[in-house]
Amino acid sequence: MENSSQQTEIEQVKCLIIGSGPAGYTAGIYASRANLSPVLYEGMQTGGQLTTTNEVENFPGYPEGVSGTDMMEDIRNQALKFGTDIREGNVTSVELTGETKTIVIDNKKTIEAQVVIIATGASARYLGLESERKFRGMGVSACAVCDGFFYRKQQVAVIGGGDTAVGDALYLAGIASKVYLVVRKNYLRASKVLQERVAATPNIEILFEHVTQEVLGDDSGVTGLRLLKQGKDEVVVPVTGMFLAIGHKPNTDIFKGQINLDENGYIITEGKGSQTNLQGVFACGDVQDPTYRQAITAAASGCKAALDAERYLQTI
Ligand code: NDP
Repeated sequence: MENSSQQTEIEQVKCLIIGSGPAGYTAGIYASRANLSPVLYEGMQTGGQLTTTNEVENFPGYPEGVSGTDMMEDIRNQALKFGTDIREGNVTSVELTGETKTIVIDNKKTIEAQVVIIATGASARYLGLESERKFRGMGVSACAVCDGFFYRKQQVAVIGGGDTAVGDALYLAGIASKVYLVVRKNYLRASKVLQERVAATPNIEILFEHVTQEVLGDDSGVTGLRLLKQGKDEVVVPVTGMFLAIGHKPNTDIFKGQINLDENGYIITEGKGSQTNLQGVFACGDVQDPTYRQAITAAASGCKAALDAERYLQTI
């Protein structure tokens, strides 16, 4: 019961932003400039997914490219400069259906907000293999930029054929002795420019039409991958690291049953705006965008959500 005073503490805010990627921080910039006094909770991964990417080369305004971490620091500082109250903490439950929205932080602090902007993004997907779970953190990773360093001069595999997988393979090729890019189809989904770079990188080998069956390993961690080639032949590749790059899952579990989600769990927003099915609740960034998923589109939707929130507040 020693936490009872904390548990009963309720803070009232006008505008609460949940999430700290380009969408959340941009919503913070616009909401603070509109005098909405936004409070922003950063969630588990401060700065969002971009902090796990290497170089961002396609965000306008950075002609020389910029690291994902530096760019998020820049946008965060811009939100702080205009008065966004940025806090550490994770939203653990919500009640968003009424006029006043109730949000619980880290199972202890309660916030009542007039508007809520959801920018919780998406998280890396895993294959779902038992052996993959067993070796998570012991050779299995979903963040090449975070963990690649540990595989200097070793052999690693990247799973996936999209921009993330190819970008990760290129990044790891600069550290590891050899990178296997394991692609389930017979073509890459990644953009042409990245495909050309992979083709020009001698220590990347693409294994088309290979599906991961099992992560092999022992007490020291991962020792290899057992793959099925073209649905019939088994192949073992000797690697000490396996990097997942097979897409993402929207972070919407805490909103289930309140906010309308599509069949893949993404928040459904109305028309060109950020309005969810609930009055006063807006969504922006990857949590509502299964299509574009770029830093620039996330930032733009954060702007829209703040403008939508501002207009909504004028009506109540
Ligand atoms: P994508 O959804 O584009 O690609 C996922 C890849 O993983 C596909 O090759 C897919 O195969 C494969 N895959 C999915 N599930 C499995 C599975 N169970 N087993 C094996 N392979 C699997 O995701 P990304 O994260 O690569 O990209 C997401 C978005 O972000 C895209 O719009 C991309 O353009 C963008 N992006 C842009 C970057 C940039 O511009 N610099 C950098 C990174 C991402 P299949 O093709 O068979 O479905």
